[in-house]
Amino acid sequence: MTDVAQAEALVFDRMPAWPSVRTETASSHGRILRETVVAERDQPPFDRVMMDGIAIAWRDWAAGRRNFDPIGTQAAGSPELTLRAPGQCIEIMTGAMCPGSADTIIPVERLRREGRLTLISEGTEVERGQFIHPRGSDRRKGDRLLEPGVRIGATEVAVIAGAGYAEIEVAALPRVAVISTGDELVPAGEPIARFQIRSTNEFSIEASLALAGLADIRRERLLDDESEILEAVEDLHHDHDALILSGGVSMGQFDFVPAVLQQHGAQVVFHGVAQRPGRPLLFASSHDGKPIFGLPGNPVSALVCLTRYVIPAFRRAAGLSDPMIEHAVLTEPVSRSGKLTYFMPVKLGWDDQGRQTAEPKPTNTSGDYISLAGTDGFIELPKGRESDPAGTVARVYRW
Ligand code: AMP
Ligand code: MG
Repeated sequence: MTDVAQAEALVFDRMPAWPSVRTETASSHGRILRETVVAERDQPPFDRVMMDGIAIAWRDWAAGRRNFDPIGTQAAGSPELTLRAPGQCIEIMTGAMCPGSADTIIPVERLRREGRLTLISEGTEVERGQFIHPRGSDRRKGDRLLEPGVRIGATEVAVIAGAGYAEIEVAALPRVAVISTGDELVPAGEPIARFQIRSTNEFSIEASLALAGLADIRRERLLDDESEILEAVEDLHHDHDALILSGGVSMGQFDFVPAVLQQHGAQVVFHGVAQRPGRPLLFASSHDGKPIFGLPGNPVSALVCLTRYVIPAFRRAAGLSDPMIEHAVLTEPVSRSGKLTYFMPVKLGWDDQGRQTAEPKPTNTSGDYISLAGTDGFIELPKGRESDPAGTVARVYRW
């Protein structure tokens, strides 16, 4: 049986890279940047005034002058005025260009009016160059501001817009079909018989991928019918970049997914991983290289496998540079068999040393999806150990 690290490597090796598309900067948040963003101009692009007040020449102040003759008013968004003689000042607003021959700003709170002159209040301290944000002091024109692979959030979109990009290259959102299989499945909103169950996996899978901003999802539900599943897989394969099936990958008489994928001409890369939950996990690659995941139907297994393999694979395909590696310290011992890697649902917190902690929240079998609500994710406990004492540091995967 494939082990967890091998399974991850096999999936990563066969994941395509999604193409890039141009999108409007205004709607680029949540997408993954695919180009280098370069400074359009020096930043700030001119000596920028940081306070409302007056602009003076510092040498006037140094020579002992405390009253100034205002010769004009300068707002943000207009070209600079210039001081022409000693003792002059210009009334100035935040965001304006620093006037020519001026080098120091006195804030309005420190000023008094006396006739047509402006006086600097007694006790004011003045430093040369104060309240001026010098041209190019943040970045220079042509500097690289953002590199490909970052997710565009509030801070990144400001940089992109500020560098003058109305459009930007981002990773295309893959179209993904999420297919729940099972004769027993009934969606919420439809009448249900006592021998049927509510279908949950297609909803949790969609929520996970959509909240991570990693896919555009179409949900499907199918019966355990070999030819129906084959027909749907062939159809959906055409206009989707990846397929995620849930259910029907185990050894039961109605588990048709592995056989269907063979008939579809896909190469089954692995089927079965030394892990709990999620042992029946299957991964295949279609004849034209599209990834196909066969997740076990048990809701806890489906979500664990999605989070452990599918989400990281989609992050790579999108070109995200952050590998999202996170650890936590176990708060309680866990005992288990050493033959398999264990994924233990946890509630995350912090100890008084500032370390992240993981409190085990075992579910009541891998069918118990209700207990997962309120957990943050799971930790990975590698095979080969019979127990993991409190204090063990483990890798964390968040839902
Ligand atoms: P299977 O992997 O098809 O053998 O299913 C294993 C268990 O998961 C069975 O108890 C199924 O009823 C349950 N199951 C399968 N698919 C779903 C689904 N979409 N939503 C909720 N439970 C499911
Ligand atoms: Mg089934």
